Amino acid sequence: MKIFKFGGASVKDAESVKNVASILSLYKKEQLIVVVSAMGKMTNALEKVVHAYYNQDPELKTYIDEIRNFHFKIVDDLGFPENHPLRHELENCFVEIDWACEEPPSRGYGFSYDQIVSQGELMSTKIISAYLMNSDIANAWLDVRDVLQTDNTYREAKVNWELTEQLIKTRIPQLHASNNIIVTQGFIGGTSENFTTTLGREGSDYTAAIFSYCLDAKEMIVWKDVPGVLSADPRYSQDSVKLDQVSYHDAIELTYYGATVIHPKTIKPLENKHIPLRVCSFKSPKEKGTSVGNFQATKPLVPCFIYKPAQLLISISAKDFSFIAEASLHKIFGLFAELKIKINLMQNSAISFSVCVDNDPFKIPELLHELQKDFRVLYNEDLMLITVRHYYPSTIEQLIKGKKVLLEQRSRQTAQVVLKEIKS
Ligand code: ASP
Ligand code: MG
Repeated sequence: MKIFKFGGASVKDAESVKNVASILSLYKKEQLIVVVSAMGKMTNALEKVVHAYYNQDPELKTYIDEIRNFHFKIVDDLGFPENHPLRHELENCFVEIDWACEEPPSRGYGFSYDQIVSQGELMSTKIISAYLMNSDIANAWLDVRDVLQTDNTYREAKVNWELTEQLIKTRIPQLHASNNIIVTQGFIGGTSENFTTTLGREGSDYTAAIFSYCLDAKEMIVWKDVPGVLSADPRYSQDSVKLDQVSYHDAIELTYYGATVIHPKTIKPLENKHIPLRVCSFKSPKEKGTSVGNFQATKPLVPCFIYKPAQLLISISAKDFSFIAEASLHKIFGLFAELKIKINLMQNSAISFSVCVDNDPFKIPELLHELQKDFRVLYNEDLMLITVRHYYPSTIEQLIKGKKVLLEQRSRQTAQVVLKEIKS
């Protein structure tokens, strides 16, 4: 059995949905689970709805209509007749959204977010499943919330692995008995009270890894708009190369440092069971892409660059010029944990502690405010954090040439530099 994952870019319009169908027609004889994300940028559009609902923005209805028009245009372009049951099913998703937006927002932002945003995946999978049927690709549509069980940490739900594994192992063979292809949603899950949760943005890769793990899949394939895992993001670097094979270890490190090609939580479950992962292009599905697996080394072994723009470098010191020691660090880390702010890089000296973080407009003002109560705080905005794995000293020299370096850190395999942002 193989697990496929198609992200938003691979299902952004009627043409791309047709392309997914043509890829799947190559695999008709295999048992597959096809995990799909919301179409195009629909998760962002749904986030806008949640925000508008919460802030009683009069534009709320307009935002919902934009999402409705987007989906129904695809349904029209795919040639579904006026009376096709798919249209009715999609209308039901909008009824769910309307209901969620009519309730007083008493259960918290995260709860409303998950009930509303999850409709993106439900709609995309309904459209894809129906289109495949029309194209003679028999398939079963699975509501992933029936098997992928989580706690109720809304927007970042934790998987109940034991229960999920048990449910997946029972339900999937039943469905596969009559259909080789199962279409289901990425990113979302369900709680024991039957509420919907989400696993964190870009979490569909993780969903596919959960299925792969629970079913001991032969292979997991992530279909992307790039030829595979590249040594650098082409938006920032002109001379990136495609990596043919990446070790699990490198894949974990690269995604941890911010490579967005695969969700960071994806690799560990696969590694534990030695399940190979392939990153392939949905534009040229016969090319090999990149294999991630139990390799001794990544090939070609070239420096890999990860660019993180919009960084903030905060330097924290004691108000009375005493040392920043364990007690202060305890307080500082507590604050970061409480506000759920990920530290991308840190460095300490006797009198100051520096951290590099994403400049999140919702979290950072509060962080700075809290820190300033106890510490002297200085910060620099508009920075770029560049992580280089498998670097040579010359790589770094070239990278920082003529740039203002605010912080630099090197270990044997990985170097990180914080630079004044290069505006493109
Ligand atoms: N649709 C979700 C998102 O855009 C999940 C995913 O794409 O993996 O974050
Ligand atoms: Mg997406």
